[in-house]
Amino acid sequence: MYFLEVIPLIYLPKEKPQILSYFSQKKFKPKSLVLAPIKHQKIPAIVLESEPLEKKKLLIKESDFLLKEISEALIEEEFFPDYFFDFLEKASKYYFSSLTLSWFSAFPKNLKNFSKFWKKTSFKKSYSWKLKDFNFSPSPTLKKIFSQILKEIQKEIKEKKQVLIIFPDNVILNLFALYLSSNFKGNFCFFSFSLSSKKLAEIYKAIFFNKIQIVLGLSSSLFAPFSSLAKIIIFDPRNNSHKNSNSRPFFDNRTLAKILSSVLKIPLIEIDPLKEFEKKKTKIEILSLKENPEEILTKKAFSEIESKKNILLIVNRKGYAPYLLCQDCFRVLSCENCDSPLVFYKKLNLETLKIEPKLICRHCGKERKPIDFCPFCKGYLLKLSGLGIQKVKEKFPFFEEFSKDKQTTFKKELKFIKNFLSQKEKKLISTAIISKWFWLFEDLFDLAIILRAESFLAFPDYLSFEKFYLFSLRLKFISKKLLIQTFNPENYLFKSLKEENLEKFLEKEINLRKKFGFPPKGKLIRIVYSDKSSLKAKKEAQKVAWQLKFKKIKFLGPTPSFIFKKKNRFFYEILIKLENEKEKNLALKVIPSDWVIDVDPVKFS
Ligand SMILES: [Zn+2]
Ligand SMILES: [Zn+2]
Repeated sequence: MYFLEVIPLIYLPKEKPQILSYFSQKKFKPKSLVLAPIKHQKIPAIVLESEPLEKKKLLIKESDFLLKEISEALIEEEFFPDYFFDFLEKASKYYFSSLTLSWFSAFPKNLKNFSKFWKKTSFKKSYSWKLKDFNFSPSPTLKKIFSQILKEIQKEIKEKKQVLIIFPDNVILNLFALYLSSNFKGNFCFFSFSLSSKKLAEIYKAIFFNKIQIVLGLSSSLFAPFSSLAKIIIFDPRNNSHKNSNSRPFFDNRTLAKILSSVLKIPLIEIDPLKEFEKKKTKIEILSLKENPEEILTKKAFSEIESKKNILLIVNRKGYAPYLLCQDCFRVLSCENCDSPLVFYKKLNLETLKIEPKLICRHCGKERKPIDFCPFCKGYLLKLSGLGIQKVKEKFPFFEEFSKDKQTTFKKELKFIKNFLSQKEKKLISTAIISKWFWLFEDLFDLAIILRAESFLAFPDYLSFEKFYLFSLRLKFISKKLLIQTFNPENYLFKSLKEENLEKFLEKEINLRKKFGFPPKGKLIRIVYSDKSSLKAKKEAQKVAWQLKFKKIKFLGPTPSFIFKKKNRFFYEILIKLENEKEKNLALKVIPSDWVIDVDPVKFS
């Protein structure tokens, strides 16, 4: 009989034990994968230690609970490298995450399936990369950046070591893979937990047994089981898509890469394409919307449009009008499940083939027929306000439209872009999500117009100016001229953009952040609590705020979240501003485990 200690791959709250004890009839190897009974389920678990029971007798006598038995292994041998222990412990600590949640995030999701293929699979000799009917040749700047990456990894390839190249999204990853397949003779692969279990098992094995040297990846790629990783490259480090803002523990690849490079003592290289864009001379003009706030285009912009051939219009709001405003009580109509404005859409009814008006909540997705009167004051002067992409399309019907509502998958998007690029005159209306395709548009447009800068800036987000600045840099890459329409032309953001004065912008921005204690001055942690009762949520938030105050930790809040009510739950949040590591540990003790913790947040709504 053996005594086993395992880490179950399931989320257990921090205050619960993270390492569990079992017994077994046969010996399981450390770092193998077994099935551990927890309550009435069998959960995949990693074996840490397995020793004959005699050695542990004393310990077991002392404990008055009965050990459960582990009898099944999913993978009997080691299947991940040693450095995982150190890496995941440091990552858990940094992100305030429970150890089990970090380990859970670091392995394929469907482990039962994965392990079946792991037993069967063998490594293929070569991989090729193709995108159907898509002939890609990189633009001059992109070629320069890509060859810079190749140069960066030459030494490691020669020495038969592994390199990991991390991309912010699948578009640029695919483009680099296409480039690699025609400019590099060796093997490379794409690693992601979103691959099918069969494919994932094959690649996992190839990386673990050092059969493959170049690994390209997105968010989960830092958890590939490297055997000889010698360098990590982060492409586009100022792109916030490197941060996972959707699922706990909200890892950021840039931070995980730093942790892993220090654990393995290997170099971490940043390849920043925005540096190339900064050098580019593009005329930027700021146009005021103050005189005619309802206007889609100012007179100046309109006359520019008429004289240019290839044009991009950026409208950063979906639907036809983002708000429905009551002219009597000045309230914005919002969803009854969420505290979010209802967006007015014109939608095609697929049965009648008629365009129908609809009100849609962007949080819960619930659709309603438009209402004739205000639910608050019963007034019937409801006004569509704000500018949505559908309204602009109505005004410029000869423009193509790209938005997340229409193009949903990578394949569909690629098809749209291919078709668009083949047209003689390239006229496009899009939300900001088009920017991941900008790599294919170098100098393509004669003119790009941001119709309302405010649609980028309306969130309570200390990063919003920086994000807008970086987005403008990306536009410089694809357009010879850039017009920005705004209600606030005197703002330093627009002034420094117009003067192309990055230093001035950064200086002002850094001073403001210092004053308010935002990064890079300190560290931010956003903590969120929600409950079905708004009163209970508020009370809980106040309790935690009081404890933070007692420990003399700086914070903002508690405040109702930007969207206070989401799917019938009420959200309160606190923004903690830490000055040093010591404070971090103090704060950690105060935050109960039913709060959602986001370290270094980049999304605030
Ligand atoms: Zn009203
Ligand atoms: Zn809703």
